Amino acid sequence: MVAAKTKANEDCQLWAKSVTNHFWYCSKNCGNDAKDLKDKWTGILHHVVDEHEWVLEEGKNGGRCNHNLLDDNERVKPWLKKESSAHKALTKIVLDTRFLNTLRYYTNFRFVGYRARNQLAALDYNHHKGREQATTADGQLRFGRRFSKRTQRWCHVKILEPKQYSYINKLLLKVFEKRSSSKGTVDQRIGVLPEDPKQIAPNIASIPPPTVKSLVEEHKS
Ligand SMILES: [Zn+2]
Repeated sequence: MVAAKTKANEDCQLWAKSVTNHFWYCSKNCGNDAKDLKDKWTGILHHVVDEHEWVLEEGKNGGRCNHNLLDDNERVKPWLKKESSAHKALTKIVLDTRFLNTLRYYTNFRFVGYRARNQLAALDYNHHKGREQATTADGQLRFGRRFSKRTQRWCHVKILEPKQYSYINKLLLKVFEKRSSSKGTVDQRIGVLPEDPKQIAPNIASIPPPTVKSLVEEHKS
């Protein structure tokens, strides 16, 4: 059982990068349509089992992958088996309801904005993680209550001191400093960041393509 689990894990790992890339690809190419994004995104579950055309959930249109037929020699990853534990594990991730509900935030994806939001969230988290528990005017520790979905019970939670956001001024100062020491105008284009999904190669070739004409001629000779 453990071995089976590990094997499933390994098979899933092989696909992890492709799945991530697929997500950013869908986000960029869904034309701001959350439904289309969902259809494209869930299509990965067909692709990984070597199914490149399928019927969509609502049965109206067929879904299909947006790649050319893959040459067998170019394939390095084994396909997953339909209904195998690896495929089931991947299905659980791809169809996670909480995740699917966030898809609408990704229909107009901009990597720079995405990165900035994560950086701000990290700054805020680090700055506020050591907050003490709040106290009442007469010095009593403050508590609140919360319903736990998992245990189906109410429980108490500590109420923390309110956030101070004291880092915001420092952050603004840094922005101005950076701006005043940078050359060029505010509206200049910045280059594509190395981790930007735009850097993902559009095909799997490891050498640049020759012209089609030269390939045809090569074939003739
Ligand atoms: Zn495919």
